[in-house]
Amino acid sequence: MSIATQLPSEERLERGALESLQGRKLGELVGQLQGRNRFYTRKLEAAGVRALGLRFPRDLALLPFTTKAELTDDQAANPPWGSALTEPLPHYTRYCQTSSTTGRPLRWIDTNESWQWLLECWKAVYRAARVGPGDRAFFPFSFGPFLGFWAAFDAGSQAGVHCVPGGGMSSPLRLSLIESLAIDVVCCTPTYALHLAEVAAGERVRLRESRVRVVIVAGEPGGSIPATRSRIEQAWGARVIDHHGLTEVGPLSFECWEAPGFLHLNESRFLCEVVDAATLRPVPDGSRGELVVTSLGRSASPVLRYRTGDVVVRRSEPCACGRSWARLEGGILARADDMVNVRGVNVYPAAIEAVVRGFPEIVEFRSTVSRSHEMRSLSLEIEPAPGAPGPEALAAAVGKRIREALGLTVPVRAVESRTLPRFEMKARRFVVEE
Ligand SMILES: [Zn+2]
Repeated sequence: MSIATQLPSEERLERGALESLQGRKLGELVGQLQGRNRFYTRKLEAAGVRALGLRFPRDLALLPFTTKAELTDDQAANPPWGSALTEPLPHYTRYCQTSSTTGRPLRWIDTNESWQWLLECWKAVYRAARVGPGDRAFFPFSFGPFLGFWAAFDAGSQAGVHCVPGGGMSSPLRLSLIESLAIDVVCCTPTYALHLAEVAAGERVRLRESRVRVVIVAGEPGGSIPATRSRIEQAWGARVIDHHGLTEVGPLSFECWEAPGFLHLNESRFLCEVVDAATLRPVPDGSRGELVVTSLGRSASPVLRYRTGDVVVRRSEPCACGRSWARLEGGILARADDMVNVRGVNVYPAAIEAVVRGFPEIVEFRSTVSRSHEMRSLSLEIEPAPGAPGPEALAAAVGKRIREALGLTVPVRAVESRTLPRFEMKARRFVVEE
């Protein structure tokens, strides 16, 4: 049995108090970076900013934005660590890298102190997921250089959760551990939660009868796509709690038990802005914009006004859970750089997933954008569950639903069972051929 945890006061601060806390932490951060962190010292100087005399949040707009391209360029110019470090190199004890598809992963290192700060962020995720002492959590995750669930594992142990690593194991072996160790909580990507359910069905493992009551998902937008999350909840007989973070930012947001479909921003540890991606001006609550984040306590490897590329809609109304932290409606709606323009229509992978996951008889899919004669075209392959009747009719139904949702005619083809790839980490179901 898990012990219900009272919300700490930092999660209930009223907005004025929250903003002054953020302002104080931001002032301290800028003070720590200036003169010590070469990358940010250069950027602050170029922007004409002096830490002394800055007043936050009023002066936030004076601070420069940071992009991922600037950071990767900096690491290329100053290999291997770049110049965005605040502490002397021997102080760093952790190494992670981003799961870049472009072949230029970003290296991100932490000190014991900045790592501990990450763990505190993860403890807020566990509180929201109602996971605590007495629970046993399983991490079917490869524990490679991706940040992924490393911090979740350490934070869980510190919070009194019994943590079981599941790296280097086949899916059937993982399923048998979930049963034999009486696992309460599973942490993985939405894709892998679905994959384990598919394997369980083939192995005649009754997942719904396991003790698992919460599946904490991260790493892909699926956890906030209603059709995807309801498939996971159905298959596991458990509650899905979505969580979102970035290697270079940290464990940023999470869903609370009381209000599914939203992600709370951890506003006492991150300063979050939502801006128009073209003008970089703030957009009002309820409007789409790009999420920009400043990590307020990871000063050893910080980001200042970091453009995440995540397209979000923020809501600041009070939440039924009692947290005052603002929420992202519908989670991460899209990644700005994932968008592909096909015959004049902007297509986001999440939009395709939302349609396909609405068909319970489809177990896997892949969409391919190809180019011929300067024209881009999109096609979709779907893999029906073994024994599902009428693959042609199913393909036609998916095509019709996509036409309604995207306004685009997309050829849909049903493929044989087990022909499409399965994924443990970041799924690549959206292939762009250049
Ligand atoms: Zn809430």
